[in-house]
Amino acid sequence: MNTLGNNTDFLLSIENLSVSFDGFKAVNDLNLYVDENEIHVIIGPNGAGKTTVLDLICGRTRTTDGSIKFRNKELTEMKEHEIVREGVGRKFQNPSIYEDLSVFENLEISFPRGRNVFGALTFKRDDEVIARVNEIAEMVFLDELLDTQAALLSHGQKQWLEIGMLLIQDPELLMLDEPVAGMSVSERKQTAKLLNEITKGRSVLVVEHDMKFVEDIAHRVTVLHQGKILSEGSMAKVQADPKVIDVYLGH
Ligand code: ADP
Ligand code: MG
Repeated sequence: MNTLGNNTDFLLSIENLSVSFDGFKAVNDLNLYVDENEIHVIIGPNGAGKTTVLDLICGRTRTTDGSIKFRNKELTEMKEHEIVREGVGRKFQNPSIYEDLSVFENLEISFPRGRNVFGALTFKRDDEVIARVNEIAEMVFLDELLDTQAALLSHGQKQWLEIGMLLIQDPELLMLDEPVAGMSVSERKQTAKLLNEITKGRSVLVVEHDMKFVEDIAHRVTVLHQGKILSEGSMAKVQADPKVIDVYLGH
């Protein structure tokens, strides 16, 4: 694992990353690495800079300093849609689905071929698209609800639909910001199962507060505090770290 030279074996390699908002360093000289097929969870108190890290990776916020390499390609100069095209998918805290459309249609328009010059909804539904929509719908527990209008789904189902809309684009790195917030206990369990399934062949970077959920999914945990890494390692290791208990878990 060479971190000194230009190339690394990591899927995502963040080095010396900083961002300042009017002189306030929300992310401060951060180094963070995500392996292939890894579920990496970022935890930490409110305002620690977790969402900002995801914003920096997906190009929504510009870095002040440092490097973000995805498959050894520098992302910090790229536009948001270019980063998506490189294989990085991002889910925001609130689901952004098309409420008026059915589950099927939401997945269909997210299929990469849908975004061609003919517009999102006019392409022919060929067998390939239908097969892929069905496959994804089953993965996100919505295969019985393909004809249901998205507005009628529960909060948890809407979150799954949005994960499905990202999955259908087959990203190599999927980023999720608090995916189980507002979900019931059983929905949380199902979401953990879902994430454990989808990491076969991809990596996931998750921000989450629910410690039971983190325990169920995390291969590695990074604890952020004031834009810096407070602790890192297995869930067991960070949970036992007195620094983490002091600033986060103890409250
Ligand atoms: P977390 O997700 O860990 O709760 P955030 O990344 O949302 O924290 O925010 C980290 C800090 O950066 C907070 O103090 C927040 O107010 C600040 N911040 C985030 N985005 C911006 C922005 N676009 N402009 C100014 N300040 C911001
Ligand atoms: Mg946040």
